[in-house]
Amino acid sequence: MKEFTQSLRLSPSEIPNRIYGVDNWGGGYFDVSEQGCLTVHPTKNPLMGVEIVSLVQALLQRKVPPPYLLRFPQILDTQIKELHEAFRNSIAEYNYTAQHRAVFPMKVNQKRSVVERLMAAGHRYEYGVEVGTKAELAAALTMSLHSKALLICNGVKDRKYLEWAIQASKIGKNPILIIEEVNDLKKITEVSSALGVSPDLGVRVRVFSRGAGKWEESGGETSKFGINTIQLLDCLKLLSDEGLARRLRMLHFHIGSQITDIRRIKNAIKEAARVYAKVYKMGFPIGFLNVGGGLGVDYDGSRTASDCSVNYSMQEFANDIVYTINEICESENVPPPTIVTESGRAVAAHHALFITNVIRTLNPGLGGTMINPSKVDSEVVEEMTDLYKEINPKNFREYYHDALQNREELQSLFNLGYLNLQNRAQGEWLFWQICRKAIKFSRSMKERPEEFIDLENILASKYICNFSVFQSTPDSWALDQLFPIIPITRLTEEPTERATLCDITCDSDGQIDKFVDLRDVKQALELHGVNDEPYFLAIFLIGAYQESLGMNHNLLGSANEAHFLIDDSGKPHIDKIVRGETLGQVLESAGYSEQNLVENFRTMARNAENQSKITKEELDSYCESFQTTLGSYTYLEE
Ligand SMILES: *Cc1c(COP(=O)(O)O)cnc(C)c1O
Repeated sequence: MKEFTQSLRLSPSEIPNRIYGVDNWGGGYFDVSEQGCLTVHPTKNPLMGVEIVSLVQALLQRKVPPPYLLRFPQILDTQIKELHEAFRNSIAEYNYTAQHRAVFPMKVNQKRSVVERLMAAGHRYEYGVEVGTKAELAAALTMSLHSKALLICNGVKDRKYLEWAIQASKIGKNPILIIEEVNDLKKITEVSSALGVSPDLGVRVRVFSRGAGKWEESGGETSKFGINTIQLLDCLKLLSDEGLARRLRMLHFHIGSQITDIRRIKNAIKEAARVYAKVYKMGFPIGFLNVGGGLGVDYDGSRTASDCSVNYSMQEFANDIVYTINEICESENVPPPTIVTESGRAVAAHHALFITNVIRTLNPGLGGTMINPSKVDSEVVEEMTDLYKEINPKNFREYYHDALQNREELQSLFNLGYLNLQNRAQGEWLFWQICRKAIKFSRSMKERPEEFIDLENILASKYICNFSVFQSTPDSWALDQLFPIIPITRLTEEPTERATLCDITCDSDGQIDKFVDLRDVKQALELHGVNDEPYFLAIFLIGAYQESLGMNHNLLGSANEAHFLIDDSGKPHIDKIVRGETLGQVLESAGYSEQNLVENFRTMARNAENQSKITKEELDSYCESFQTTLGSYTYLEE
């Protein structure tokens, strides 16, 4: 018997790839074991992986409850290496005679452990950091960076920001202050002469070429950032007048994030390189051409220019940048600049994933008891019973349409008072059963009519999952961004359900109903039926932007977080556990002091005791329980 079931098993990678496309979006970091469990390979070594479910078990053993944010710092190391090596390859291939330098844009993920790991991994590449606010600058000032690493200061700046950015050079950093509007320059000259330090400057220039898709607005002529050609000339004149021409070290461009089409990148780089060459020839010996971010992540694995994908690889990105800049510098006869990139998404997205446990499942129209046909005393329900019994592959379209009509009739008869609740329940039950049969029959049609595809989506189950979309995948709510989602076990078992995911906020937007698919976007995700065993889903590629944008909607706080390292023998180690926020902490952030809450609760309970509504014992136990609960996890625990 055992052998028989074994031979029936599919090859381990068949279901994960056919249904979930793991190989397409996994970037070499994720795979599936023979046991059908999802594995992670932080160094991309296919032989050195661990089952994610074993990491979950390790956390459960330590009494750390789900949901979890899992971090794999070694994935950050690998991404940093690949980014820099890609540029080194291109530089060698095109005989580019200058260098490449990268910086990490802090807004993508400001978590200290993430930024520090990145800086350590990037040390040998002189990896630097890009900041856009005073707080990000303050963090950057305390980082141990390579002595040649760049500190790029973007964003809208006030006096304090300027002072600190300028003084950074005195404590061993290499700040470049990016001028985002002509007025910046006046302020900078004031502050720098007061401090007696002359800072390195850059100018952020707008390009005509823009990105496309959900993130396009940051590029283009009308973008919020940067100066246009007219202002650029004003700015250059001002710099010359102030005797600061030699301080202009960088031209900065950023056409947006997640640029899905490589042609847009090429066009923008062409424009940027021309601007560089022209400005250089006007007598500004600029050393750095900063091409910003934009390197995308293939969230859906389709390798297309669709919104959540990219039609190019990291190497192609590097090649096109290096090649284009090289060509234009040669044709303009100017020395090639050091190429600076500010990729954040592509560096950080893969290293974090989110694990949520399914709490329960809801199937529309299922449940309840089978109706007893002998008890039917309504004509419309009788008709529906006949449809239910006689629907078949030949008549299902017609019968389904009849059922739709019956249901409308059921509704109006009920509203007019001609039906009792039993009749109505029988009718509804029959309706959903007829729909289910119709869907089944429709699957064998060559050209499946739209109405049955829609119906199938309406009838998808709802899996209630222990998490908050607003906290953990805010862009799936805000931008309809897709993240790959897949169960971490049972991947040799054919899924039998189609489901959308609902979170535990009380917000109807708190759900995920769009899923990655190679060709299109799936309206429902194939999942397994859930029995008494815990069923965990992993949401991938959430290491960029999601943590910083996440919010405590409904007072659901940050999730329990664990960092895992895999050693050379392939064994996992928990590097760090960071407990998620407690009720007390999220309440504090909304202005309730934890101490006041406890005191006020005690006062209320005392009043109740004074009025003899509760006993002294109850008073004590309520107060103690209240206080312990404030110290507990905001997510569902049992
Ligand atoms: C956000 C931002 C980046 C990062 O872009 P990614 O597409 O995430 O790589 C880089 N530079 C600037 C100026 C930014 O504002």
